[in-house]
Amino acid sequence: MHYIQGEARNQDSLFPVSLDDLVPDDHLVRVIEAYVARLDLREMGFSKTQPKQTGRPSYDPADLLKLYLYGYFQRIRSSRRLEAECQRNVEVMWLLGRLAPDFKTIADFRKDNGTAFSATCRAFVQFCRKVGLITGQLVAIDGSKFQAVAAARKHLSLKQLKRQQEKLEKHIATYLAQLDEADQTESAEVIDRTAIKATLLRLQGKHADNITCQELMEAQQLEQFVIGEADARMMRTHLGPRVAYNIQSAVDAEHCLILNHEVTQDGADNKQLAPMSKAAKALLEQDELCVTADAGYSNGEQFQACEDAGITAYVPPNRAINNQGDGQQFDRSAFIYAPETDSYRCPNGQILELKNLNKGQRVYASSADQCALCPLKAQCTKAKRRYLTRHAHEDAFERMEHRLKAHPEMMIRRRSIVEHPFGNLKQWLFGNGRFLLRQLSGARAEMALAVQAYNLKRAINVLGARQMIALMDG
Ligand code: SF4
Repeated sequence: MHYIQGEARNQDSLFPVSLDDLVPDDHLVRVIEAYVARLDLREMGFSKTQPKQTGRPSYDPADLLKLYLYGYFQRIRSSRRLEAECQRNVEVMWLLGRLAPDFKTIADFRKDNGTAFSATCRAFVQFCRKVGLITGQLVAIDGSKFQAVAAARKHLSLKQLKRQQEKLEKHIATYLAQLDEADQTESAEVIDRTAIKATLLRLQGKHADNITCQELMEAQQLEQFVIGEADARMMRTHLGPRVAYNIQSAVDAEHCLILNHEVTQDGADNKQLAPMSKAAKALLEQDELCVTADAGYSNGEQFQACEDAGITAYVPPNRAINNQGDGQQFDRSAFIYAPETDSYRCPNGQILELKNLNKGQRVYASSADQCALCPLKAQCTKAKRRYLTRHAHEDAFERMEHRLKAHPEMMIRRRSIVEHPFGNLKQWLFGNGRFLLRQLSGARAEMALAVQAYNLKRAINVLGARQMIALMDG
């Protein structure tokens, strides 16, 4: 018996094999080639789209874009690894015509063209709309935290600095007291004054640094700051607190393609519903839009803004239920609101009038005299009177409640739409890792490339590479 034998390394062939022979007709690189060929890179804002008249010629941005799209598709994000792929990977050799740019050129291209990558994302969405992959009938919005380059230990917060300051002051006071004691008892042989003075100097230096940091942050009105990556923020993630960015995405229900995405610095989602929905609506060029999101997006102001923009949202309204005591007493649903008089009627038929406005909440109160005589008081309140709060956008909350009751299936649909893209982006593309580029601009550039790779993969899965190439060439 013997093994299957390969060809001898120095074997010549009568008909030399070309690179094109090595790449199948329905290969990913042919889709990327067809896709990039139909883009107007100058219009999209790519740098160096005009070749220089003198000096050393630069690389065509189309070649570098192709390299990055291939790289992100294959989970190769590092510029050094992409440089290596250019020298050893037949698919990349085919795609770039055997060009082999160095890692610095590759890295600079990504650094300099963040905005242009976003434009190519939008162009792909328009292509998908044209060929029917995106219908715009329902859009799901979701957010996920992606870790920044900076580590959590580089994070400073004003609260943390103030706590440190207190500790440092206590330590300094202790050492000063020890020195005083030593001076009084003249026990120089027991206490090492030199060591104490050195420690004191170190602590005083730390204290001075701490105060300077606090002053700088207060001057810039910053609650938190990350050394080396000022744009990143400490956010709650499923792994615990991490320095991260919050990535928002609007996903079309038809084939789970990402319509629009944003890299934000806000760890909460509750201010993102209207901006993300409006951006998706503009991309879809529709007069109306139907969106769904989870309870993290609940915000009366945002609900109202969506309604005003012709967007029908399905989001679980999440607000204080205004229960009393242990929940055994009347909750707000037992009180009937009368919009004409802007007041509530309680279960005993008494009126709760508007008392004051507090941080966007309208506070209503009953009459203490009437409550004192009320037979239902034990079921209502332990206080002298009953208070009720009404959100400034309560009407929008109530309309949202009615919409969700009429369409409970929206929450199930939401889950099936949004979990696909983020699951893929995090595990397939980022390998549960973090961004490679610092600051918002870097995170935006990387996310735009990742979203494009995801959309491209999804479109190929749905249509097949041959049809994609035919549609792009057509
Ligand atoms: S305690 Fe006051 S508010 Fe509550 S049911 Fe009686 S009268 Fe109405």
